[in-house]
Amino acid sequence: MSGSHYISKSKFLWGLQCPKLFWLAYNAKELIPEPDAATQAIFEQGHDVGGLAKKMFPDGVEVGGDVHNLDETIRLTQPALKLRKPLFEAAFSAGGGYCRPDILRPAPQNAWDLIEVKSSTSLKDVHLDDLAFQTWVLTGAGLKIRRIYLCHINSDFVRKGEIDPKKFFTLEDVTDQTAELAQLVADKLDDMFKVIRQRKHPDIKIGPRCNDPYGCALVDHCWKFLPSHSVFDLYRGGKKGFDLLEQGITTLEGISDDFKLTEKQGIQKQVAISVKPYINKKGIAKFLARLEYPINYLDFETFNSAIPLFDGLHPYQQVPFQFSLHTVKAPGAKPEHVMFLSEGRHDPRPEFMLKLRDSVSRTGSIVAFNAPFELGRMRECCEAMPKFSPWLKGIEGRVVDLLGPFRSFDYYHPDQHGSASMKAVLPALTGKGYDDLGIQEGGTASNEFLRVTFSEVTEAERRRVRQQLEEYCGRDTEGMIWITDALGGCD
Ligand code: SF4
Repeated sequence: MSGSHYISKSKFLWGLQCPKLFWLAYNAKELIPEPDAATQAIFEQGHDVGGLAKKMFPDGVEVGGDVHNLDETIRLTQPALKLRKPLFEAAFSAGGGYCRPDILRPAPQNAWDLIEVKSSTSLKDVHLDDLAFQTWVLTGAGLKIRRIYLCHINSDFVRKGEIDPKKFFTLEDVTDQTAELAQLVADKLDDMFKVIRQRKHPDIKIGPRCNDPYGCALVDHCWKFLPSHSVFDLYRGGKKGFDLLEQGITTLEGISDDFKLTEKQGIQKQVAISVKPYINKKGIAKFLARLEYPINYLDFETFNSAIPLFDGLHPYQQVPFQFSLHTVKAPGAKPEHVMFLSEGRHDPRPEFMLKLRDSVSRTGSIVAFNAPFELGRMRECCEAMPKFSPWLKGIEGRVVDLLGPFRSFDYYHPDQHGSASMKAVLPALTGKGYDDLGIQEGGTASNEFLRVTFSEVTEAERRRVRQQLEEYCGRDTEGMIWITDALGGCD
């Protein structure tokens, strides 16, 4: 049997998520898009985490590192097993399935412990399915498995100097839960082989499975039949969209009067029928009355990494590396702009906080979109650098959240598609957006910052990306001014 006829672990998990996805993966591969840059960044992070976990086993042996042929790696695994040393990425096949366990640790009586490394900070159901599949294949290949572990990140870990992988990871014994699930693998694989052989893909309707346990790569393909303003725009709709779809209703205006909607969802339906934005003038006026000049429009960009880059950080802690501040001193005045974008490979937070403290005006409002995010980052910086705490305490009361009028639905435009995020609000309310920029959203901003700061790139490339970062963060604060002005014109 050649490698292409095995069902891999990742395909097995796809098969559990959705038989249609599974069928297409074998019979219409071309429909499945290549992973985007964000997904690629997650893979690379997983690779780094896996590398750190291997350091727990200094005498470990990498199996078939440079070999890309699966059958060859399976063959190379056999002599490696005889070494009775921890094995990394050994390869096995049995019963039509194959897997490459992250780590196999020798256990007494010729047995092995199976250790799967994940970049998450807790155990998830999908990890058990993953391990059950591997256990089934390994047992079928003749291995005696003693214990089964999920090796995930310890969220309480705080970096102090060199990272000790034994403290960074938590080994969770999942032998009992996994063993039960492993008994079901044979039947599931049988079903999956039947699915592969079908002439047409199984008729699977869209549903919560499209995003559980992972966002499916075929969402654009399977969901394209929906109208552009659909029942899935319902704000915090939960499963209401699927309930409505089940009744054959796809548009907001098609929702019958006896279908229970929240007040905000009711506004969405009303807006879909009238094709006009909903405006609560009183609510907007109350919000605007809170703003005091000089108005500071503030936005942060942050990155996070599974493995903390600097001392004092938890895994995945957000690290601010950039801010943009537009200050409008008086009604109609030209906005003044200040920026900070960290330079170099050190912890950006001390300089970030110094520059921020020097730049925010001593009086007036500080406006952010989803302000708890900015406040949260500043509070974390103060925990690390308490000298900034008195300043932060002094400004906290001046912070105003521009998300407020949109989250409360004092303003709602159908083009927001049920979202109150800045990326949805700005174009809907002002007709302007991010389309003309090289970087158009925060995830790309942080990945690009990390790439040009911590990996080897040419100076020209670094400068190009930093320019794009400045334009992107600047657009966020400029955009907040445009949004505030547009709200002012809503009477
Ligand atoms: S988008 Fe949903 S229905 Fe389509 S293949 Fe993916 S999980 Fe299945």
